Amino acid sequence: MLVGWGGNNGTTVTAAVLANRLGLTWKTKTGEQKANYYGSLFQSSTVCLGPGPDGKEVNIPFRDLLPMVHPNDIVFDGWDISSMDLGSAMERAEVLDWSLQEKLRPHMNYLRPRASIYIPEFIAANQAGRADNVLKGTMAEQVEQIRADIQDFRHSSGVEKVIVLWTANTERFCDLTAGVNDTAKNLLAAIQSGGEVSPSTLFAVASILEGCAYINGSPQNTFVPGAIELAVERNVFIAGDDFKSGQTKIKSVLVDFLISAGIKPTSIVSYNHLGNNDGMNLSAPQQFRSKEISKSNVVDDMVNSNPILYHKGEKPDHCVVIKYVPYVGDSKRAMDEYTSEIMMGGTNTIAMHNTCEDSLLASPIILDLVLLTELCQRVCVRPQGSETFQSFHSVLAILSFMCKAPLVPPGAPLVNAYFRQRACIENIMRACLGLPPQNHMHLEHKLQ
Ligand code: NAD
Repeated sequence: MLVGWGGNNGTTVTAAVLANRLGLTWKTKTGEQKANYYGSLFQSSTVCLGPGPDGKEVNIPFRDLLPMVHPNDIVFDGWDISSMDLGSAMERAEVLDWSLQEKLRPHMNYLRPRASIYIPEFIAANQAGRADNVLKGTMAEQVEQIRADIQDFRHSSGVEKVIVLWTANTERFCDLTAGVNDTAKNLLAAIQSGGEVSPSTLFAVASILEGCAYINGSPQNTFVPGAIELAVERNVFIAGDDFKSGQTKIKSVLVDFLISAGIKPTSIVSYNHLGNNDGMNLSAPQQFRSKEISKSNVVDDMVNSNPILYHKGEKPDHCVVIKYVPYVGDSKRAMDEYTSEIMMGGTNTIAMHNTCEDSLLASPIILDLVLLTELCQRVCVRPQGSETFQSFHSVLAILSFMCKAPLVPPGAPLVNAYFRQRACIENIMRACLGLPPQNHMHLEHKLQ
């Protein structure tokens, strides 16, 4: 169930799954295109099992390492403050080719988002125009309605599991206040009395109370301490924050490469412009601030890992700019300049320009987040010497790979580096199969 179902990501991921399930093809100006899942770690990348009998490496699809749900089997539902049906909302998003939209419209027109929780002060004022599908009543009554919606969907669709994912607009940060959102008890009391609780946190609470995993795809601090405590108490998975789709994904590769190669990045300047509704929402200062924070800390683990290059407390300059340019629509531009210090005082500057449809990057990540969460719900680990099996911590840090600002259990190391995050997923899945971790030694080819 998607919160923000009628948005660019919500409509695009729903359309993509329908198109794949129906095996659709469509004409573009460059020829026939076939539905696919490019950009999905599990559906479109492979893992190496090791050498086969002939000594050659055996690569298999990531999704075949363990039994996983196929995205074609996902049933979508969700909420949006805009009442527009999904067919029209797909057209509003301007992401997919027109001939594909024509084929999908009959399957999307009858899908309508459920009414949602709208607290205007949390998202940009420029969103007010689309808020025609909002719940009424007290905060507590609205949370009850969201719970009733989850139950209704569970029963009417017949699905085995429900996972709720926030892909609605970026909210401003919520004030952290003792007595309001610092503990689970206080948070539940604040909902009863109508305190400072954001819609994304209200959805998190409703999901957790319904026993449904909750994933936050936007940068705001949905997981206030009280929400984390509630998830731990109820043994429900939560994960976030903010999809790691474009610029930050490259950053988590490039800075890892530079620092691990012994090169010292000294300045990272990231400039974006985009023209979709997300961009319009982010043109408001408080919502931009949430995004700026989420994009800012992504190199910290890599910088802190190398005291040869960086003295204690030293960091590269890191600046993030986002501008709203309506004309470019969902086709986001990201321009980055990485300046690094190389040997003997030399300077290396890498500049890159990245253009692509934002929602077509985010949609496969939404699917991977959900599929991995579902898999984790079926994994237990028995530590050596222990009698009992344990499930993962409620804060599902294995999902860090797909998140810009990963949420990890208290005290756990925060990893942003791309290949370490990917190796984490791969090696945990290999362990489930009884395979040793992938270490790339290939000693068998290096001995005499
Ligand atoms: P969008 O503006 O097209 O869609 C958001 C939808 O959320 C809209 O339809 C809006 O009406 C709805 N909405 C707002 N508040 C709501 C509420 N309280 N309840 C229910 N619905 C609500 O934006 P998008 O491009 O789909 O992006 C969605 C979110 O994902 C944004 O916060 C964005 O920052 C985040 N994100 C996107 C990407 C990407 O690559 N597309 C990457 C990282 C994060």
